[in-house]
Amino acid sequence: MHIKPAAILVLLPLLVVAVPARSAESVFLTGATVYDGTGTAALENAVIEVKGEQIACIGGEATCPVTAGAETVDVSDRFITPGLVDAHVHFSQTGWLDGRPDSRIGHDFYDYEALQQALSATPDRWYRAYLCSGVTAVYDVGGFPWTLELEDHAADHPERPHVRPAGPLITHFEPVFPIFQVLDTGLFLPMRTDEEARASVRELAGMGARAIKVWYLDPPQDETEALDKRLLLIGREARAQGVPLVVHATQLRGAKVAVRAGAHMLAHSVRDRHVDEEFLRLARQVGTYYVPTLIVFQNWTRAIASVAIGKPPSLDDPNDCIDAETRRVVQDAARLHATLPDKLRYLARVISRRVNEARQSAIMEENLRRVYEAGIPIATGTDAGNPLTFHGPSIYREMEAMERAGIPAAEVLVMSTRHGAAAMERLDDFGTLEAGKLADLIVLREDPGESTHAFRSITHVMRGGTLHEITRFAAE
Ligand SMILES: [Zn+2]
Repeated sequence: MHIKPAAILVLLPLLVVAVPARSAESVFLTGATVYDGTGTAALENAVIEVKGEQIACIGGEATCPVTAGAETVDVSDRFITPGLVDAHVHFSQTGWLDGRPDSRIGHDFYDYEALQQALSATPDRWYRAYLCSGVTAVYDVGGFPWTLELEDHAADHPERPHVRPAGPLITHFEPVFPIFQVLDTGLFLPMRTDEEARASVRELAGMGARAIKVWYLDPPQDETEALDKRLLLIGREARAQGVPLVVHATQLRGAKVAVRAGAHMLAHSVRDRHVDEEFLRLARQVGTYYVPTLIVFQNWTRAIASVAIGKPPSLDDPNDCIDAETRRVVQDAARLHATLPDKLRYLARVISRRVNEARQSAIMEENLRRVYEAGIPIATGTDAGNPLTFHGPSIYREMEAMERAGIPAAEVLVMSTRHGAAAMERLDDFGTLEAGKLADLIVLREDPGESTHAFRSITHVMRGGTLHEITRFAAE
């Protein structure tokens, strides 16, 4: 479990490491520049005392004196931040089209039931990719009932990220029900009537869902009024059950209804038009967490494009965190291309998506700036599991996109640590580096206060007091 000192000395001569995993004795990380996740200025030449799973002390040498003879890890010239939090992922999806039978590509090509069986049996595949990328906590906002077991499965384990699962989603969009009906269960619960909507909320609460996730696609015009009212009802029932409401609503109208319904989190940007004063006022009042997910739509288009041209996509994976099975399955782009009945139609689809995307990206970026300036809490989320949005390393591009949209790097850092933990309702345990919290942190070569690009330079991840060299999680 812990790092062999000999291996470290070969690979990282800068770090003198002799760290027993979760020692009952204190271990001191000394000399790093620390961003503690609270948004305060970086602490230079810091000392972090780790005892067992927790941070015992964090500060300068005077505040946290190193005990004579104690184990120390010299991290001078390095940067430390809290472990990253991805506030929007799906363990039931793979990062490729095999996990999305509703995409129409590969619908007859992949065995979706077998896939779900395999995924439920091997969540370690994604745990490993997350730790490898420095992500120590994830919010799974929609998945099969088996995902609800992941929270306990991953808790208190030094090689697994914290998982907060929402379980099945409530939606009015019924065409997807049969497509995702496998393993004698569904991915979706209905909201055809008020009573049914309330029953779906109670069912989820009874299953132990950590959020009530509503997939609120823009309703048909003649149903808008009734469905909007029903979403408010779902919000009331969720409150009565004591479970937070998380809503997918990418259109301003629906997003406003979601916030009025008391949404704890909006899982995506508003992307049809610019957010207005009314939206900003409502979201601020409610304290809704806004998760921009800037890159997932572009990644979808890249996936469809790779099939349309029959060429496997390039993978953005600086530390080799994407597992062998995922690398293999994206190579199917060429074989899927051969199955397309009308190749020109698919090319046309890619082009029209690209056109829409440029417009929508500009709107999403402007909305992110407005939401940020209005003081609404923003949490970083990737929507990992969607095609080409890979579990783990996709968080780098998401953070970089947020910075490009105009959010300062030091603020993106807080959104990717503290705010993510708060969105998951786990801020008491992690998300910032403070005495008494879990020792979940990452070590970087470059300065994340200067640029979000620095997160790619990760060398170590500590989860619950156990320090890992990230290369140990790299794919074979
Ligand atoms: Zn999602």
